[in-house]
Amino acid sequence: MNDTVYDLRSALALLHAKPGELVVTDTEVDPHAELSGVYRYVGAGGTTMRPTRIGPAMLFNRIKGFPDFRVVTGVLAARRRVGLLLGCDPTRLGHLLKDAVQHPVPPVMCNGDEFLCQQQVHLASDPAFDLRTLLPAPTNTEEDAGPFFTMGLCYASDPHTGESDITIHRLCVQGRDELSMYFAPGRHLDVFRQKAEAAGQALPLTISIGVDPAIYIGACFEPPTTPQGFDELSVAGALRGRPVELAQALTVNARAIAHAEVVIEGELLPDRRVQEDRHTQTGRAMPEFPGYIGIANPALPVIKVKAVTHRRNPILQHTIGCSEEHVSMAGIPTEASILALVERAMPGKLLNVYAHSAGGGKLLAVLQFKKSGPQDEGRQRQAALLAFAAFPELKQAIVVDEDVDIFDSNDVLWAMQTRYQGDVDTLFIPGVRCHPLDPSQSPDYNPALRGSGISCKTIFDCTVPWALKAKFRRCQFREVEVKRFLPDFR
Ligand code: MN
Repeated sequence: MNDTVYDLRSALALLHAKPGELVVTDTEVDPHAELSGVYRYVGAGGTTMRPTRIGPAMLFNRIKGFPDFRVVTGVLAARRRVGLLLGCDPTRLGHLLKDAVQHPVPPVMCNGDEFLCQQQVHLASDPAFDLRTLLPAPTNTEEDAGPFFTMGLCYASDPHTGESDITIHRLCVQGRDELSMYFAPGRHLDVFRQKAEAAGQALPLTISIGVDPAIYIGACFEPPTTPQGFDELSVAGALRGRPVELAQALTVNARAIAHAEVVIEGELLPDRRVQEDRHTQTGRAMPEFPGYIGIANPALPVIKVKAVTHRRNPILQHTIGCSEEHVSMAGIPTEASILALVERAMPGKLLNVYAHSAGGGKLLAVLQFKKSGPQDEGRQRQAALLAFAAFPELKQAIVVDEDVDIFDSNDVLWAMQTRYQGDVDTLFIPGVRCHPLDPSQSPDYNPALRGSGISCKTIFDCTVPWALKAKFRRCQFREVEVKRFLPDFR
């Protein structure tokens, strides 16, 4: 565990002390298309169109039009960096998250005169209030529907049960005090919103931006691992060994993360919808995890903003939706979810999982499965079926043996070349609900699909049949002491 990190600033301080993990620029940057254009080259990675790379996080000290703000992006855009921030070997992060979600530590309300996130307050009732000039929300590409908050942790409670949920949603600035909010089907906050709407009521919520990275990673768990009613802030509590501290919002009945750089307070309005790209008419939303720019939604729920509060010298945290940061935030909880379910079903068989960068952390998982005897033949495929159950948005599973490095794509593709025959080792599970942001999951791609976001799920079994194990032994080199020849070797 790393207990030197307790908010965004302490995370940046840790990264600053490590070579190659954080770069800082004093050159003024335009939040409209330029900031993301720069970071695409510096460190976006993920499913971003090449050229891009895995690189450092980047802090922009001077934002055109917003002299009071800095913007940081890519804090979690490298698995190695997530490992640093959580004090964990990067290959073991899925296991760390699995243990955390199984031992949750709930958040606590904080008492105090002044919360860090409320050091400065801007009320929407002030005629001068305008989100568009107050907060430097980046517009990621020239095609985007508008400026987006991409790292906004939306936190609300069930109007009936009081249970809370926290999730990142794409939030587009629609006016001086309005945001549109996109929900993928079935999201828990949308269930709360629908309950409130059915009663003709608004749903109060807070949007916390710029927090301890453990909170961002923990918030990205999805059901069934974190079912409706599971407060994902308790995952971060477990990761840090202390509860996340909450502050009462000033203008709505909701709670925010007390150490957040920025908090937007507001309420989701009942029976109000807005066209996401109404100001730009581009037909597009913003870059999404599959590597394409999302389609603008014709009718999204609206948040009426009541206040913006922030720390002194605030830093707005941002991400590029198709960057490696999404792979970290969505993928590591996916790994944890798969590990947890398969471990319950067949202890000790699934050694590790990698939610691969190519699927944005959601669409593709590589499973490392250890067959110990003839009774384990076929169980590798059972493990893959469980993976689809553990994370419903998973589309493809590649299963490999214990002698393959799942984090080395060359090694995984090697297994596919020499331990896989397409006609007998490919399993199709057609017509299953998956994720609408993958453009191939649509009836215009395959007329057999009955709707957008329905997919053929596929298992690629690249494991050696147990009976043939001896034939597939990899070249065995002599164990040697390399440092005797190269003292600095690592
Ligand atoms: Mn949830």
